[in-house]
Amino acid sequence: MAEKILLKNVGIPGSERLETYRSRGGYRALEKALRELKPSEVTDAVKKSGLRGRGGAGFPTGLKWSFVPKDVPGPRYLCCNADEGEPGTFKDRVILENDPHMLLEGIAISCFALSVVEAFIYIRGEFALGAERLERAVAEAEEAGLLGPNVLGSDFGLKVHVHRGAGSYICGEETALLESLEGKRGLPRLKPPFPASVGLYGRPTVINNVETLSCVPSIVQNGPEWFASIGTKGNTGPKLFAVSGHVERPGVYELPLGVTLRELLFEYAGGIRGGRGLKAVMPGGSSTPVITAEQADVKMDFDSLAAVGSALGSGAVIVMDDATCMVEVALGLTKFYRHESCGQCTPCREGLGWMVRLLEGIEFGRGSTADIDLLLEIASGISGKTLCPMGDAAVIPAQSTIARFRDEYESHVRTGGCPFKSAAGKVE
Ligand code: SF4
Repeated sequence: MAEKILLKNVGIPGSERLETYRSRGGYRALEKALRELKPSEVTDAVKKSGLRGRGGAGFPTGLKWSFVPKDVPGPRYLCCNADEGEPGTFKDRVILENDPHMLLEGIAISCFALSVVEAFIYIRGEFALGAERLERAVAEAEEAGLLGPNVLGSDFGLKVHVHRGAGSYICGEETALLESLEGKRGLPRLKPPFPASVGLYGRPTVINNVETLSCVPSIVQNGPEWFASIGTKGNTGPKLFAVSGHVERPGVYELPLGVTLRELLFEYAGGIRGGRGLKAVMPGGSSTPVITAEQADVKMDFDSLAAVGSALGSGAVIVMDDATCMVEVALGLTKFYRHESCGQCTPCREGLGWMVRLLEGIEFGRGSTADIDLLLEIASGISGKTLCPMGDAAVIPAQSTIARFRDEYESHVRTGGCPFKSAAGKVE
């Protein structure tokens, strides 16, 4: 069992309270940063640690920070993206509900490094408990002089705002998040300019995920070399994996990047439910291409999953057993994306509805082989041709299930319905 870093306080009674967090060494890294390090040294440590963003893209965090122009006068901001809404993803929620001070400490150190004096946490509206605990944690930290003016008696001051979203998936996209924070409809912006130069209220802004920022205290406390010694080359540090679907023990597991999918599923998540066979896995959330049981020895890191044609994404591992209909999976997820489309781009707004109708036709016995090819044609007319990355993400369930399980689509067409359903409509 690997050492716990991000989940070390989870399960301790009162883990969300300041008193508990401090009694377990909390806020010592902030003290160290303010007393012993210059802001540039904190950024260098994050760069040296190899930390890559845990929200989905896997972009090097220190490098992202260095894109913020240094010579622009006036305010700059840090936004923490806590709008965790990707189907299958629930790992940030564990931190928000159980260890909000670890996140706040990470935010404070990061703001010190970036010369930011005002930070925002945009939290998913449905995370009522997380938001409540986060708000109380901010109040506790302000009261204790860990946030607010003159943090720990230093010249550095920081105001942290908690902003609750209103239930829109697209507000997890960084520019839609900024629009929503500004009080407008959460519509993604055209990029460039990127938020590092023109972000919140038109100011330079860094946007990082909850888990990413939560890694910062341990990097400062234990050193970048220690962090870089965990995981694999180019894929360093601990990772939270949210395992859901057909496993015996679904849940959030903290393991070093590079653990194999097989180990994660069979040693930690208890294997496939009811002793059934493994059929497919979406290794990083619903917008990462499906992989098959034959690929279960893949390492769960950014580069290894990219090498097999998928992605680590947010680390949301959706597991499907051998009784799962892949057409039904693609249909359910495409419906989700159609519902969440903000409607700004024609390919996403119109194309996803068309794909849903074709998938329904195939699943319910009205489809043809030509429909399978048409699905791929529509998908390629959406992917890469929209304003925000949701266009690419939304077509992945259909594209990747056709690529890996085309025979299953064809058997729906041949048999005039779903071969996984009995006459009573139940999965056998
Ligand atoms: Fe909106 Fe879809 Fe266009 Fe993104 S791709 S901006 S969600 S319409």
